[in-house]
Amino acid sequence: MTSVAVKHYPMRIGGADVDSERRMTIVDPGTGETVATVAQGGSAEVDSAVAAAKSTFDAGVWRLKTPQERATVMRQITAAANAVADELVELEMCANGATVRQATGFHIGYALTHFNYFADLAETYAWQRPAPISSFPALGQPVVHREPIGVVGAIAPWNFPLLLTLWKVGPALAAGNSVVVKPDEHTPLSILEFARIAEANGLPPGVLNVVPGDGPEAGARLASHPDVGKIAFTGSTAVGREIMRLASGTVKQVTLELGGKGPSIVLDDADLDMAADGMLYGCFVYSGQVCESGTRALVPADRHDAFVDRLVRRARTIQLGPTRDWDTDMGPVIDGRQQRRILEYIQGAVAEGAQIVLGGEALPQPGFWVSPTILTGVHNDMRIAREEVFGPVLVVIPYTDDDDAVAIANDSEYGLAASIWSGNNARALELAERIQAGSVWINDAHQINCQVPFGGYKQSGLGRELGPDALDAYTEVKTVHLDLSGGRDAKPYDILLSHAY
Ligand code: NAD
Repeated sequence: MTSVAVKHYPMRIGGADVDSERRMTIVDPGTGETVATVAQGGSAEVDSAVAAAKSTFDAGVWRLKTPQERATVMRQITAAANAVADELVELEMCANGATVRQATGFHIGYALTHFNYFADLAETYAWQRPAPISSFPALGQPVVHREPIGVVGAIAPWNFPLLLTLWKVGPALAAGNSVVVKPDEHTPLSILEFARIAEANGLPPGVLNVVPGDGPEAGARLASHPDVGKIAFTGSTAVGREIMRLASGTVKQVTLELGGKGPSIVLDDADLDMAADGMLYGCFVYSGQVCESGTRALVPADRHDAFVDRLVRRARTIQLGPTRDWDTDMGPVIDGRQQRRILEYIQGAVAEGAQIVLGGEALPQPGFWVSPTILTGVHNDMRIAREEVFGPVLVVIPYTDDDDAVAIANDSEYGLAASIWSGNNARALELAERIQAGSVWINDAHQINCQVPFGGYKQSGLGRELGPDALDAYTEVKTVHLDLSGGRDAKPYDILLSHAY
């Protein structure tokens, strides 16, 4: 696979390429080299993208297609995108530093599979659900309609740019909405290309618009725009709070997928080989830059040292290397700012009494690299155990018994995902009931499945993405009541109009 030559990418608004004098630079995190430039949009470009989206919505070019017609177009788009999947992989990994193994399977493979799932949902979704006939105060038939909202704004992070954007664009389009995407500053390339593919394969121009730009300007304008009816956001909890505040001005519907500090609990009856590998997989995939990573390893106190030895021994086998090399296990972190932030978290933990038993360093080479890091001597009240590091850092926290494990797991402002490793399904299921998290994986990690809901308890989010009800969050609900009473005399209007004609 060859690297992308430095190329310039315009915005995509109303089915046209739109350039700007302002430009953003896309840097390969693995090398530190500039790989592309992108037109930077601001408030004015967001306004024109929303206007384009609104006019397509009002005209009904997409909204008035049948769900089957929309599903057909979405499947055509998936097929066309799959045909150039290698190109999408390259556009994704050159900007976010994913390894080729991971970008191929998780980033692009999942993104297109999940987009296709939303096409299927368009066909099976109950767009109109008759409710029971009402007989009081008069005979009538209510029918509950689900209708598209209008213009949906999608604001995405850099870690899984296409996947997490399509988790919003997929259900929004399946439901007949028009969309404006504000990708992350680091990673607009794959969704820009996807929008072009979509338009070349049947999506009417202006239904899907992409405005790269920064968060506080372009993102904030989208989140507060009066013609945007819903805002779907994935990113940090701090920005999620701001999105909620901005959306409140026009009382928009909001879906938030935010941060996490996932506990990964190994029980004393676990298959320890699987648990150790699973915990490392759960934490270090994509250098720990996954919202639902298991970053707190909860280990029985009396097995602590032996289990840590096992974790360290296995983690030493993780090979860092060029992201395009199929033998590379782990790549860089996203940028220099994040690299410094991760190292500060590690140093801060050491200052609070933690011990580094593996890693803890930047790699002295171009790009932004942090070695897989394991810390022991960590208590759950330390900053490293409470805040999202978003890097390759696993903290090991000992616990005394199952109740203690549950208490530590739940002692977090987050509640996105958790893992439990046990040889006893009954015991693990009982613990899963007590964990405050949107996903609990027993003897597994990173189990992202488009057929089940995904999202967070507590400050990890609001609402759910994926699953059979995913379209609910992209629709308005309208109850239509049809009178079956047969005439004036059967009605309760005498409550007001007691005098005869
Ligand atoms: P971020 O919150 O800094 O940025 C996310 C997006 O918000 C970007 O597009 C950014 O431009 C935009 N933004 C920033 N400030 C804004 C503002 N004031 N108004 C409107 N938009 C604004 O997050 P990040 O660092 O890019 O991504 C990492 C975070 O995302 C982590 O906290 C991670 O846990 C979270 N995340 C969550 C999930 C999930 O599904 N729960 C998935 C992936 C990542």
